Amino acid sequence: MEINSIYEGLGISKEVRNFGEEILKGLEERFRAIDETTEYNQLKVIKAMQDAKVDAECFNSSSGYGYDDVGREKLETVYAKTFGTEDALVRPQITCGTHALALALMSNLRPGDELLSPVGRPYDTLEEVIGIRESKGSLKEYGISYREVELLSDGTFDYENIKKAINEKTKLVTIQRSKGYASRPTFSVKQIGELIKFIKDIKPSVKVMVDNCYGEFVERIEPSEVGADMIVGSLIKNPGGGLAPIGGYIAGTKDCVENAAFRLTSPGLGKEVGASLGNNRAFMQGFFLAPTVTSAALKGAIFAANIYERLGYKCIPNATESRHDIIQCIELHSAEKLCKFAEGIQAASPVDSYVTPVPWDMPGYDSQVIMAAGAFIQGSSIELSCDGPLREPYSVYFQGGLTWYHAKLGILSSLQKLVDANLVNVDSLC
Ligand SMILES: *Cc1c(COP(=O)(O)O)cnc(C)c1O
Repeated sequence: MEINSIYEGLGISKEVRNFGEEILKGLEERFRAIDETTEYNQLKVIKAMQDAKVDAECFNSSSGYGYDDVGREKLETVYAKTFGTEDALVRPQITCGTHALALALMSNLRPGDELLSPVGRPYDTLEEVIGIRESKGSLKEYGISYREVELLSDGTFDYENIKKAINEKTKLVTIQRSKGYASRPTFSVKQIGELIKFIKDIKPSVKVMVDNCYGEFVERIEPSEVGADMIVGSLIKNPGGGLAPIGGYIAGTKDCVENAAFRLTSPGLGKEVGASLGNNRAFMQGFFLAPTVTSAALKGAIFAANIYERLGYKCIPNATESRHDIIQCIELHSAEKLCKFAEGIQAASPVDSYVTPVPWDMPGYDSQVIMAAGAFIQGSSIELSCDGPLREPYSVYFQGGLTWYHAKLGILSSLQKLVDANLVNVDSLC
């Protein structure tokens, strides 16, 4: 069977496919550069696994207290070695990225301390953690204050006001690498390193945490290699490689990780307890696959930007700029287009392809959100998925794809839905 017929069987017309192929012709060099980064990161992970002496015993399960769980301990060593940190906490008991970030913050701050975000407002769900929006158990309730410095209008750091914001109470600085739901650029690791140096030159005792969600393995170095005391992320994003069914990580200095471990379990117990419940194999194998999975997602993001920019939509990052995370934002400026885009992503999924996504009120978010995902792991955003809050500019945030070919199909399918609804016309472009 011709590949065009298979695409047609999946609902993709010849016109849409040809348009996609036309766009792809211009992306060869960029894809080659991604492959080179993937190779580099793959080797880094294998070396860490060899140095940690990962063996078959690691895949055994533990239950109850989880004492002497060799697999859990070696997994944490592998994370630490790969990210260049002294230690790491990698656990199924950390339920998601927000939990990992909240844990890192709450365990490393004490009443009277101040938290500073020098990169503007953090990710939506952290607003309640910090107490920007009132919530039970927030840092604010515990007497931990918060300050933020907006980015300059061109998306760069406002060094002058950051300097002014650092005071005797400033204990921890949080830097979000990825743009999340904001329309600002994602920072490169190099930029993050410059910001950390600036801050530590002013106040050496300050600790820096980087919200590393979506950033892992996109570049050859991680923020922990340019001065961050902690990097924090979710295992149902990049580092789980699509196999981790749950989990989060905190990698950093011994001190920061110990604080987090004492908070996650209990003072005194720390990392010694926490059964892995049969997850070690998925965590280890997922981390092994993470560089290639991340590269598939990255290729999908670049493909999407090039398709939609050609159609006249503003894409962040744009079609040609360099990438520092796997999220692609496309400003669709219409609720109808946003919903059609999501329908297309859903329809291209291996799982739940027959359902139609609808907007809903999601806990932790302050406007309705539409999400599309036909995922093996619920809510996994390293799998092909998209989401977008129903508010101007009706941006869709597209991410993931465990394989490049699935990401490609998903993007073509989103376009097909827009074409079928007469919201977009590709005829004049091919
Ligand atoms: C996804 C994400 C989070 C929160 O992770 P959840 O697993 O959804 O709780 C925090 N920060 C950034 C930048 C993210 O992308």
